[in-house]
Amino acid sequence: MKRVNCLFAAFAITSACGTAFAQSPDWDALGKQWWSHVQFLADDSLEGRDTGSRGFEKAADYMAEQFRAAGLQPAGANGYRQPMDFDVVRIDESHSSLELLRDGKVEPVKLGDDAILGVNARAAENVEAPAVFVGYGLTVPELHYDDLAGLDVKGKIAVFVTGGPADMPGPIKAHYQSGEERRRALAKAGVIGVISIPNPKSAEVPWSRIAASRFQPRMELRDPGADVPPAYQVSILFNTDRAEMLFAGSGHTFPEVLAAVNADKPLPHFPLAVAVRSHLGMTRSEVQSENIVGLLPGSDPQLKKEYVVVSAHLDHLGVGEPVNGDRIYNGAMDDASGDASLIEIARALKNSAAQPKRSILFLSVTGEEKGELGSQYFAAHPTVPGANIADINMDMYLPLFPLKYLEVQGLGESSLGDDVRAVAEAAGIQVQADKEPEHNRFIRSDQYSFIKKGVPSLAFKFGYVPGTPEEKIFKAWYAERYHAPSDDLTQPVDMAAAAQFNAILEKLALRVADADHRPEWNPDSFFRRFVR
Ligand SMILES: [Zn+2]
Repeated sequence: MKRVNCLFAAFAITSACGTAFAQSPDWDALGKQWWSHVQFLADDSLEGRDTGSRGFEKAADYMAEQFRAAGLQPAGANGYRQPMDFDVVRIDESHSSLELLRDGKVEPVKLGDDAILGVNARAAENVEAPAVFVGYGLTVPELHYDDLAGLDVKGKIAVFVTGGPADMPGPIKAHYQSGEERRRALAKAGVIGVISIPNPKSAEVPWSRIAASRFQPRMELRDPGADVPPAYQVSILFNTDRAEMLFAGSGHTFPEVLAAVNADKPLPHFPLAVAVRSHLGMTRSEVQSENIVGLLPGSDPQLKKEYVVVSAHLDHLGVGEPVNGDRIYNGAMDDASGDASLIEIARALKNSAAQPKRSILFLSVTGEEKGELGSQYFAAHPTVPGANIADINMDMYLPLFPLKYLEVQGLGESSLGDDVRAVAEAAGIQVQADKEPEHNRFIRSDQYSFIKKGVPSLAFKFGYVPGTPEEKIFKAWYAERYHAPSDDLTQPVDMAAAAQFNAILEKLALRVADADHRPEWNPDSFFRRFVR
């Protein structure tokens, strides 16, 4: 059945919405077209599109062909492709062990049940060091906040709960919790390794699913660019339910720490009564993968050197530990949905024969699930001359119900907030700020690679009003399907709503590409600091 949607009258050819002659776009047909790309990319035969895998190569071929068909010019280093090399390390748990040393006694830590040993290409094979509890483990110079102040952490393992104080502004908390900033601050203090304990207040997935993912290979860019802080010798993720074993004998308990977390009280800081002894077995290999880059050149001779980047990630988790008998992590919403949108937005621009002043760059990146590596590589090694002036990133925007509200990450940070408000409101869609800033979504996908280079950016989720069935659907998706094999083609999706989302993002890209001025961070935005 064709859905007549007066919310979207602004996109209609005539403004006769509400009469029998309404010519609203055929959202159902556009939604099916969008879904056809998701169907290809999230099919079992693509085996979860793991970075460097055969399935990813099929997906990359598909994107390059679809970009070509949509009239985009090749803008990679080699046609539509921008290849890059990765080091790959994987835990060999049969040759790994973790122990706590307490009062001369050795207590084994059961890998998978109690904790997970992280891997990185530069990790140490053997570590033995005392442990210190450092609260949230954050150092925030501009707030004069330092969880390491007055503690002897040199040569030690820092144990912390993820998250941060309730009164710390969301973006600051998110920034200093990012892997790089944390490593930078802890390394400066002489910390050699970390144990992080997931904060139950912001837990998105149960421990069993986290534990199931520990055999995923870790990939690192061979050439990550400048300014990358040193790696930890050892990094451990501890099961919140077992964390008490770290605290026994210290004079403090983990429930006491949790009570402070839950009451928004400052966390205590103290040396633990244990030393940590780890032995890490790893297997090493290397792979190549690539970003796919397509260009709609700008029509203005000067402004065409400025690029509005529209991005999504093409990789997902590949084939992994089975859940309910299914081993393929299809990644239909995460993020085949975003790549399908890239294609549909490019197609719509071609069909409309739009000639924006600035260039629009369509970027489908690899390595997001490995730590936003493909976008980091693109930002460090651009394939086009000129400046990226905005990143509009789509990662798992979750079209699970009708589009009435659009949640925007980065809404209050730059002039792009006004742009997205304008195009959404013209379509009758209400814009919402990030409702769950504690999840750090603004820095948890590829837009962050651009933000770190000073480029104003936005990311999106379908919005909802708290307490409605839509909230239930949204939260259930995270609990049941996020990074699970059930993020596949059998899940219920509102395809017409996805097509409406695509139309809004198309209008957004055009508006930014045609604007008198390039986007700017707001004067009070935290992220302004990255502008050089
Ligand atoms: Zn994703």
